[in-house]
Amino acid sequence: MTAVTYELIKVCKQSGARLGKLHTPHGTFETPMFMPVGTLATVKTMSPEELKEMGAGVILSNTYHLWLRPGEDIVREAGGLHKFMNWDQGILTDSGGFQVFSLSDLRDITEEGVHFRNHLNGEKLFLTPEKSIAIQNALGSDIMMAFDECPPYPASYNYMKASVERTSRWAERCLEANENPDTQALFGIVQGGEFEDLRKQSARDLTSLDFPGYAVGGLSVGEPKEVMNEVLSYTTPLLPDNKPRYLMGVGSPDSLIDGAIRGIDMFDCVLPTRIARNGTCMTSAGRLVIRNAKYARDFRPIDENCDCHVCRTYSRAYIRHLVKANETFGFRLTSYHNLYFLIKLMECVRQAIREDRLLDYREAFFEQYGFNKPNARNF
Ligand SMILES: [Zn+2]
Repeated sequence: MTAVTYELIKVCKQSGARLGKLHTPHGTFETPMFMPVGTLATVKTMSPEELKEMGAGVILSNTYHLWLRPGEDIVREAGGLHKFMNWDQGILTDSGGFQVFSLSDLRDITEEGVHFRNHLNGEKLFLTPEKSIAIQNALGSDIMMAFDECPPYPASYNYMKASVERTSRWAERCLEANENPDTQALFGIVQGGEFEDLRKQSARDLTSLDFPGYAVGGLSVGEPKEVMNEVLSYTTPLLPDNKPRYLMGVGSPDSLIDGAIRGIDMFDCVLPTRIARNGTCMTSAGRLVIRNAKYARDFRPIDENCDCHVCRTYSRAYIRHLVKANETFGFRLTSYHNLYFLIKLMECVRQAIREDRLLDYREAFFEQYGFNKPNARNF
């Protein structure tokens, strides 16, 4: 018995997207779903109570950051991450790999692991597949991710091939290192960049290890959206139907819909909260930059089609004033709305799958959002 199982409910006849349920030790959640990111055991500016109220099911936390601060021992002593941060629903932790590769300039990759310097104080550190799993075991997340290499985009074919092979060997070590397979599910990560045969090789290697779930990694790293969609189109069919599929680091509304159409069940991204702290909002009519002067006397909500707590209560003019004045409350309001917007969007995607009309939904959403216009501004 694995800690996390996936139940396929139906496939959209129009688009091929999957409607399913993810059963975890901390509840059952409908998919496709969006997972808010709580890097340091907090989704920036949001309380767990607010996340629950807006319908967040699973949230993500970062192993690398919690390893450095406060340290996994303190989280273990607190009774695990769920207790430490007062979140009784699902938690997914990443492996730390992405941060090691993106935050650190000085790193040395060996078969054993990665030597790098801590981005806070320059201290030398060494992260291995076993160490990543030991930290995630201490954190007690429901879903853990295998430690993988995240090559930059673009990477040469030969580099990518060596990297994929090392990632497969590391994946096997991660599986062996997991001390709590009954309560913590470990997902494998398919890499391979934009090379179809390497994606195939990676998927074959990882599915032979029979993970309880699979992620598609190495996307949303600077490649054009068409490349991402193409890679997904040939990668998801390589993954077993009875396991969940997670597209890492993707959170723009168009990519969530296009990912679901290509058989993805889970998404996460810092995008909604990061742009919120800039004063940028996602709305049903496209992006809205709340700082703009034209909203100074605009007493309508951020999004007239949104029924979130913020849109029912506060005006653009008020939120603009707060954001311009750098008031924390302003960023709380934009963060709340953006997260709610994506959680609601996934609810609409699930409803469209249920009714076999996800391609129609996509068309209408893209039209209204402005994605179909030439030079449409995306995130
Ligand atoms: Zn709203």
